[in-house]
Amino acid sequence: MTPKPRKNDSSRNGSAVKYGTPIHLNNKQGSEEEEKPSSYPKALNAFSNLLFWGERNNDKLESVFGNHLGRILASLSMFILGITARGEWVIFGVYFLKYIQSGGSENYIEESDQLIQSFSDWVDVRFKGYFSILVPATIVSYLMYFGIGGYLHWFYYVRQRDTPENWKCQPKTWLSPELERHEIMVGSVSLVFGSAISAAIATYVVNGGWTTIYFNISDYGFVYFVLQVPMCFIFQDYLTYWHHRIYHTPFLYKNFHKLHHTYKQPTAFSVTAIHPIEFMHMQAVMMSPMFLFPVHWLTFSVGLVYIYYHGIIDHSGVNFKRYWWQPWQPDCIFHDNHHQYFHVNFGFNCELWDKLHGTYRRKDRIYREDIFYGTGKSLHEATAEELQQDIQERVSENPLAYQGDQRHFDLSSDEILGTLGKLKQNH
Ligand SMILES: [Zn+2]
Ligand SMILES: [Zn+2]
Repeated sequence: MTPKPRKNDSSRNGSAVKYGTPIHLNNKQGSEEEEKPSSYPKALNAFSNLLFWGERNNDKLESVFGNHLGRILASLSMFILGITARGEWVIFGVYFLKYIQSGGSENYIEESDQLIQSFSDWVDVRFKGYFSILVPATIVSYLMYFGIGGYLHWFYYVRQRDTPENWKCQPKTWLSPELERHEIMVGSVSLVFGSAISAAIATYVVNGGWTTIYFNISDYGFVYFVLQVPMCFIFQDYLTYWHHRIYHTPFLYKNFHKLHHTYKQPTAFSVTAIHPIEFMHMQAVMMSPMFLFPVHWLTFSVGLVYIYYHGIIDHSGVNFKRYWWQPWQPDCIFHDNHHQYFHVNFGFNCELWDKLHGTYRRKDRIYREDIFYGTGKSLHEATAEELQQDIQERVSENPLAYQGDQRHFDLSSDEILGTLGKLKQNH
């Protein structure tokens, strides 16, 4: 994924927006979220204020990163944030270590197995050294989340704030400063959970715990090694589709998943801004292959990198599109639509599941937070007011975020008139 070339990079002179007033910067007209008084502890607020440092120092940063280098760094940042934010890199590291340790030998025996006689032995042996992994995992998660997330925030949301039509999926609406803080708070709480779980899995593996991960390609042959790549990917992605879809049923949505949907215009910080219960459930889904079927450590680790990288991309709010070599992958706008229209487009890395199950966004349906189950509501059942609101939502989307650079869901004037005619007959 590479950012689209910006049309008027050279003419961008910041005239539309004055930098220097960090928090109120975001109060551009058109911002639809209301600012509420801050209810966070002062220390936490000060922490998130660090992020707005970039807004105050835009001119200095601009001179260092404001060109080609900046774009390359932005793409690279997405990648690094994707693989480090939740602490999975420690698992990757541990597998790599074990691969080296096993030295290709099929008869590698864990010495620690001999020490286990009871459950407490099991905990002591398998989770030995937990904190020595937890501490670096957590530190790296935070450094990456704030360092790289902050950089992306500056690169798009500050530096190119006056030209959102060139890069932003929803160019007319912005998350309010209060909601930006909110997502950073929730997102950073989840990092603690993410790092704790990743560190637990990593110590379990490093201490010889049982998994279905294997290290030598020859164990199951080369054909299986190749076949397991799509198998593992499809398994995880399909399970994630259902996991997400189930969290969109009224009870789970209102009590857990709604938190993640606080952000109608998601940003890279939203990716971990998920209710802790749902977050842990999601990690269990991601980790499940390592306890269910034989999977080579490299397939599993690279798969996780891919999933988290796209998690960042999907929430960035930037008009990233899939590469030619990943025809299964939706563009960023697919999940951005999910945040704008709520109960639709539940998948992550394949559009296919939504197409198969009828939850893919359709032009002749209206989707809103109060219309559950992913199939929306027919245009003909809407009131004139609902229709008008829906049309406003549709035209607020950025055509540049779609394939062919045009909005796929705009209604033609004939379609609008036809619908209005039907509405009149119905009422
Ligand atoms: Zn959702
Ligand atoms: Zn999301």
